[in-house]
Amino acid sequence: MALTITGLSKTYPNGVKALKNLSLSIGNSMFGLVGPNGAGKSSLMRTVATLQEADSGSIVLDGIDVLRQKDEVRRILGYLPQEFGVYPKISALDMLHHLAVMKGMNSASERKETVDALLQQTNLWDVRKKALSTFSGGMKQRFGIAQALLGNPRLIIVDEPTAGLDPAERNRFLNLLSSLGSDRTVILSTHIVDDVRQLCPRMAIIASGELLLEGAPNDALAGLAGKIWSKVASTDDELHAIEKQLHVISTHLVGGQHEVRVFANALPGEGFRVVDSGLEDVYFLQLSGQGKNQRPN
Ligand code: ADP
Repeated sequence: MALTITGLSKTYPNGVKALKNLSLSIGNSMFGLVGPNGAGKSSLMRTVATLQEADSGSIVLDGIDVLRQKDEVRRILGYLPQEFGVYPKISALDMLHHLAVMKGMNSASERKETVDALLQQTNLWDVRKKALSTFSGGMKQRFGIAQALLGNPRLIIVDEPTAGLDPAERNRFLNLLSSLGSDRTVILSTHIVDDVRQLCPRMAIIASGELLLEGAPNDALAGLAGKIWSKVASTDDELHAIEKQLHVISTHLVGGQHEVRVFANALPGEGFRVVDSGLEDVYFLQLSGQGKNQRPN
């Protein structure tokens, strides 16, 4: 599977430029699209999912012109939108049957086989007769995956799926995503860097509608080895001084104190220690405008 996005731009009628000449290649396996809120992730995903138009650029999915051959795309695409919408009072089982009919699955026996298998796969078998409106956030997201998998799509897009899930539900959901197999491509759009670290062999970081980095998380991490330094600032004044003088990429509260993480090629000052870099450092470094030339591939 190959998805090639070239020079994609989108300006909304209110003047917001959501995508600015964005180009990106996505191959097989799980691909992480990460960026802060407002980066343009949903705009990009909705465009790939044929739900909205672009102003210019092209998207090609295995030889299909996505912006024009929409029906062909829809046949091989499963989509879990950020807001799945209303959850009706009907059961998961009935809803999946209904959606399967809408997808053109006319044979009752084939439908039963598919729906039952999806309910098992998403761990919803035991609650299949419960109304969707009573489902927890995690159950709803797993149902979202079940409906996205109807018709056995080659490409699955999941938009911000773990936002609002508690840690146990999030874990279960990430496990489900990773089990979707190597025979299809999954694009995981998220602002949660950790989701990408856990699941995705390749990723892209976007912000303000632009691509900041594309490549393997491990390569991006390797580029930061020995360059991330940490210090606990004991006073607000010290924190402000560090922020003024050094390239701070993030600050975290640890036990009520500010732990500052700084990007520097050598010891940036007294009291700093070199620390293991994490994908969050890659992300914050890109967002802070540095490292634009550090594309790992
Ligand atoms: P993300 O998914 O990364 O949070 P979005 O694609 O939702 O980003 O939004 C990108 C930018 O486009 C934001 O500034 C957002 O407010 C704006 N935007 C998104 N959808 C619309 C719309 N339908 N009309 C106008 N502006 C929009």
